[in-house]
Amino acid sequence: MIFDRSTKKKTTFQSFLSAEYARDYILQDSPYEEQITRAAALIRESDCVLLGAGSGMSAAAGAQYGGRFFEENFAEFQKAYGKGPYMRDMYAAGFYPFPDEESRWGYWSHMALLAGVDLDVTPLHRTLLGALAGKDLFLLSTNVDGQFEKAGLPAEKIFATQGSYNRIQCLRGCHPKTYDGVSLFRQMEAARSDARIPAQLVPKCPVCGGPMTMNLRCDDHFVQDEDWYAAESRFSDFLAATRGRKTVLLELGVGYNTPTIIRFPFEKLARQREDVSLIRLSRSKAAVPASLGARAVGISMDMAKSIADLAAALAEKDGSEQ
Ligand SMILES: [Zn+2]
Repeated sequence: MIFDRSTKKKTTFQSFLSAEYARDYILQDSPYEEQITRAAALIRESDCVLLGAGSGMSAAAGAQYGGRFFEENFAEFQKAYGKGPYMRDMYAAGFYPFPDEESRWGYWSHMALLAGVDLDVTPLHRTLLGALAGKDLFLLSTNVDGQFEKAGLPAEKIFATQGSYNRIQCLRGCHPKTYDGVSLFRQMEAARSDARIPAQLVPKCPVCGGPMTMNLRCDDHFVQDEDWYAAESRFSDFLAATRGRKTVLLELGVGYNTPTIIRFPFEKLARQREDVSLIRLSRSKAAVPASLGARAVGISMDMAKSIADLAAALAEKDGSEQ
């Protein structure tokens, strides 16, 4: 229905407010071991598991962005641009106002290789996937580092909504295609000098001739290509197939950078369906809606530990049944 009657209603303070009361969110204070046992039980009883992974998952698995890692791997860029507010970690450095295309790609090719293409922090991802063997599984992810796929989760089970460190696109998004950037990044890495790459390696959009950029969602020019829509469609099919089957939403390190993609929709789904439960693993943001009762478990703990303990709890039960 195009005409929405609710738009004619007067905005009251009550209707303006978000529908959920803040007081519904609680940090569960039951003992850690008990939370792991409850989470394992929810997974064991489930048919389907929808994983929702945010940056906390990569961090828990060992991915590094700043500190000594940055000092050691980006000294060339700190020398060229000074440390300032930008050259402190890979996230901030991406916002540096690079003076030209040779400098911009000098930085981004290096970062794409270190933060994604060549990154291998998969043991924790493997532990988790191993523990979930036999479940109907799908991954919704805001991560762009491809670690779950490297750990063995088939690409057709993954909807990575925010792009990939492996791909590039037209800066203006003039056409709905992305391109593999890996071999280009390796050429740039080999040819870079004083934080810049040679002009002949700067990519140009094959359609409009303009500059290109990483296929990472940072503005409205982000290109959602054929593969993106195919993944969206498989995700939709997965959700439809979970109807009437016990489903666990297993949230992994999702904070408040983009909570509208995983965190809030997971809560919404759990509120809507009685056969859906929510397990929220997060070192510091594990509050869950109290109104979900026993269907929600929020575990505040370093995820390298909580995932290992969850996997151990699941394996224990499997062993005792044999
Ligand atoms: Zn273009």
